[in-house]
Amino acid sequence: MKYRKLGRTGISVSELGIGCEGFISKTPEECRQMLNYAIENGVNFFDMYTSAPDARENIGAALIELPREKFIVQGHLCSFWRDGQYDRSRKLDEVKSGFEDLLRLMKLDYVDVGMIHFVDEITDYHNAIEGEIMDYVRSLKTSGIVRHIGLSTHNPDIVALAAETGEIDVILLSVNPAYDMLPPSEEINPLFEAETFKRVYCGIDPKREAIYKRCEALGVALTVMKPFAGGLLFDEKQSPFGRAMTAAQCIAYCLDRPAVASVLAGMASVEQISDCMKYFSATPEELDYGEILAGATTSSFDGHCMYCGHCAPCSSKIEIAKVNKYSDLVLAQGFVPETLQNHYDLLEFHASDCIECGKCEARCPFAVKIINKMKQTAQLFGK
Ligand code: SF4
Ligand code: SF4
Repeated sequence: MKYRKLGRTGISVSELGIGCEGFISKTPEECRQMLNYAIENGVNFFDMYTSAPDARENIGAALIELPREKFIVQGHLCSFWRDGQYDRSRKLDEVKSGFEDLLRLMKLDYVDVGMIHFVDEITDYHNAIEGEIMDYVRSLKTSGIVRHIGLSTHNPDIVALAAETGEIDVILLSVNPAYDMLPPSEEINPLFEAETFKRVYCGIDPKREAIYKRCEALGVALTVMKPFAGGLLFDEKQSPFGRAMTAAQCIAYCLDRPAVASVLAGMASVEQISDCMKYFSATPEELDYGEILAGATTSSFDGHCMYCGHCAPCSSKIEIAKVNKYSDLVLAQGFVPETLQNHYDLLEFHASDCIECGKCEARCPFAVKIINKMKQTAQLFGK
């Protein structure tokens, strides 16, 4: 393992960290095995965006066995558990109780970085940063419960604003070579329209490049989510570069961006963590991604589900990310394997329960046509 300074916070974090989404719906033993494996391999940095109580409890139970100074937690505020589902909230009473739940369930006295969660729109940014939510985060910092303030976003324009505040020390941003082709915009959805990709890849978008450099200059650390673009970069057919990348190449790409301190991949098994750990033993030839990027096509990944869960909560309590993942696995294989059908059948709510309210589509940062996806999935699985 190698370690880097988390920008001006001075905290030493592992170059490879762990995102929490892979721990959702896992047993305590499965969580313990994954965390023990990661920690034995030197991982000390953990992002906790989820409000799922089981994930918070299971991860907290494993981490708390370590001396507190041995692990770094990037804990999200504004992530709320509502009616058995994750939800983002900007209501102060919910923000407070959601964060208090995180501390209680993870048995933590403090988080190293308190992340203001999922700020993609400019108006939402001003609402969160210039209002009572930021005041609450400041009070947590004064009392030592939040050691440093952070913010998570998919939008480079938000990064540009947040980096200049002087108060936000860490920004969690979706980074990978596919996203770096995209120009920033106040509206997140147009970034993912096919038109965006009808251009020859010619390196990183200038605005993206500028924010990396600006953050580096200011000492604002970037931490990375979605380094594999939801698995898209592993598939030569889906990748805008027309060739599959390895996890190690994707991680290398992210860590090569200025200001990036750590890649927090959402790993769901010991095998996936092990695959990412290959970054540290790979040869320079194995890590070389330049040749792959040079072969970029104009193909689009518009509408691909990243399984990020930002579309929750569903009006019909459908676990949209999971349903989409099952659906995509079927489409990739060309038939419905019995095991997948069984997993799907065991879900409490199915794609056919969709009432087409459209609320999820408004929340999806990747412009996934979720209603159409639900119809397609209902046909694939018969419900
Ligand atoms: S539909 Fe959109 S928001 Fe929901 S999991 Fe997929 S990419 Fe994320
Ligand atoms: S459109 Fe369907 S999947 Fe989306 S929130 Fe409404 S019911 Fe759920």
